[in-house]
Amino acid sequence: MISIGAGATIAAVMRNTPVDQLETRMLLGHVTQLTRVQLITHAEHVLSAAEAEQLNSLFQRRIAGEPIAYLLGKREFFGLTFQVDPAVLIPRPDTELLVELALQHVPQQGRVLDMGTGSGAIAIAIAHTRGDTHVSALDVSASALLVAQNNAKTHQVDVEFLRSDWFAALDGQQFDLIVSNPPYIVAGDRHLSEGDLRFEPIDALTDHADGLSALRTISQLAAQHLSDEGWLLMEHGYDQAEAVRDLLTANDFTQVQSWCDLANIERVTGGKKSGTAK
Ligand code: GLN
Repeated sequence: MISIGAGATIAAVMRNTPVDQLETRMLLGHVTQLTRVQLITHAEHVLSAAEAEQLNSLFQRRIAGEPIAYLLGKREFFGLTFQVDPAVLIPRPDTELLVELALQHVPQQGRVLDMGTGSGAIAIAIAHTRGDTHVSALDVSASALLVAQNNAKTHQVDVEFLRSDWFAALDGQQFDLIVSNPPYIVAGDRHLSEGDLRFEPIDALTDHADGLSALRTISQLAAQHLSDEGWLLMEHGYDQAEAVRDLLTANDFTQVQSWCDLANIERVTGGKKSGTAK
């Protein structure tokens, strides 16, 4: 086991770290409150006993596999810093595609609903970019909603939060755009027992079934909560685009299409409510 002692300098920590250099810099910044640049210009800064102790504990947790985002308590998404903790999924860069598409599909002053908001990253990124819109966000997890509400406060956006199991608590509310990054990993997928995912809320990752059940529920019921011409956009797994297009088509959506993420994988599928949809 490594141990950084009180009196060690930043430079010595960088030389002796048990984790990689980038992560060491992030953890050092967290512990010392020095910026990235200061960590370089203050390389001879000496750690206090408390800082050394905190750093050792963070190194140990990182070595045990805990995600760096949970250790820091934050993650960047869409240019904003979001508070995260193990109650919420860590926002992924892939999901920025969903935000970009949402921004393209929401009309002026449009009403937006984010289903399964987690940290609130999607809803808050939309509200922050488009102050004209009215954004609502729901989650079944009360502890996730607390994180999301905090994030909305930090970014000074007015998002209406609601605790709801998908559409259950929604009554007759209507939206011009519904977005969701629901749990879509198939039960038993090996990724669930690897890397960061082991530490993330399991119910945010998998439906404990075929991976499509949340996508199916949303596809079946969204039209009831969409205005005419309203759009539904959902993130999904790398091999689910065709299945999600079929779900939307079967539920009378039009202009059904998928969009690729940065890795050129179909990652978001959406469609427009047709005039005849129920
Ligand atoms: N994209 C995430 C992953 O594969 C899963 C997120 C989700 O299930 N919505 O790690």
